Amino acid sequence: MACIFCKIVNKEIPSTKVYEDDEFLAFRDINPIDKVHILIIPKSHIESLLTCDKENQSMLGKMLLLASKIAQEQGLVGFRTMINSGAEGGQEVFHIHFHVYGGSEKLAKI
Ligand code: AMP
Ligand code: ZN
Repeated sequence: MACIFCKIVNKEIPSTKVYEDDEFLAFRDINPIDKVHILIIPKSHIESLLTCDKENQSMLGKMLLLASKIAQEQGLVGFRTMINSGAEGGQEVFHIHFHVYGGSEKLAKI
């Protein structure tokens, strides 16, 4: 399996873990775009939001609640969540992940 996020789950490559349970792992993005920048992933290999369907509904809901919990644990009073989906949507790692970031005093408007 060449997937780098599966390798992080299997501890074949290191990461700065901030949260782990049976289903999910969260770790710091190696190239942060904000003061706090965390990636949340399911431990099982799911490619993208584009490949998700109703079977993944509960997992996706859990990931969103986890985003809020982790952001608050990191001291953020507000945060952003981004899910790049598909190469044309800016996705570079094809193991679904939620970006959770914030902490800048000045919020970049998009
Ligand atoms: P995306 O463009 O949404 O697929 O985002 C992939 C993200 O993974 C980027 O923000 C990268 O900085 C991040 N990333 C890639 N490799 C690692 C790694 N080994 N540890 C932590 N973050 C990583
Ligand atoms: Zn994977």
